[in-house]
Amino acid sequence: MPGTLFIVTAPSGAGKTTLVRGLLQRDARVQLSISYTTRDPRPGEQDGREYHFVDVATFRALRDRGEFLEWAEVHGNYYATSKVWLKEQIEAGRDTLLEIDWQGAQQVRKHFPDAVGVFILPPSMEALEARLVGRGTDSPDVISRRLLGARGEMRHVAEFDYVIINDEIGAALDDLVAVVRAARLRCGNQHLRHPEYFAFLEQD
Ligand code: 5GP
Repeated sequence: MPGTLFIVTAPSGAGKTTLVRGLLQRDARVQLSISYTTRDPRPGEQDGREYHFVDVATFRALRDRGEFLEWAEVHGNYYATSKVWLKEQIEAGRDTLLEIDWQGAQQVRKHFPDAVGVFILPPSMEALEARLVGRGTDSPDVISRRLLGARGEMRHVAEFDYVIINDEIGAALDDLVAVVRAARLRCGNQHLRHPEYFAFLEQD
């Protein structure tokens, strides 16, 4: 049976990366899609692990060759999801998670209407600002751009199936694990997993 596609979206600083890492540790059946980006690697990030880091010319060439399922410009950098790789993974039955912005989520939903959308919210705008400053990886200029972008991003919350408010990381991770488990139990998935049982139940 096909794998489930999860789309996790959040403004930067909401704790998405930590939550997704926690999920991958707790649930070995979920894998992460590695996006392409033109932004510079942050300290500790590795090419091919967090992202495929490419320059703008390479990004444009890949995009123009139709390699991307979706792409978006976020905070002045380009980001994209590989089309062929993702289709192969879902067809091979692997549950795959995309960490992408709301624009990408809208595009992916058109191709994968059964994708499960999860939006992660910070507890408040003040908490978000404090986290971005505390992270210490971005300049003040980048932080104010990200805060402005965060407001706009958070307006798209209603387009998602689930909303997790990341106030306390342990509780938020439990919520994300629960969403993944619940998605696997959707009737359509159970039908595919247990065809004979369902055929029996559908008999007159
Ligand atoms: P960051 O630079 O902090 O890693 O990510 C910035 C934003 O880009 C985040 O909102 C993240 O979800 C988004 N992003 C990362 N990869 C992709 C992608 O492949 N497609 C789209 N549309 N957004 C992405």
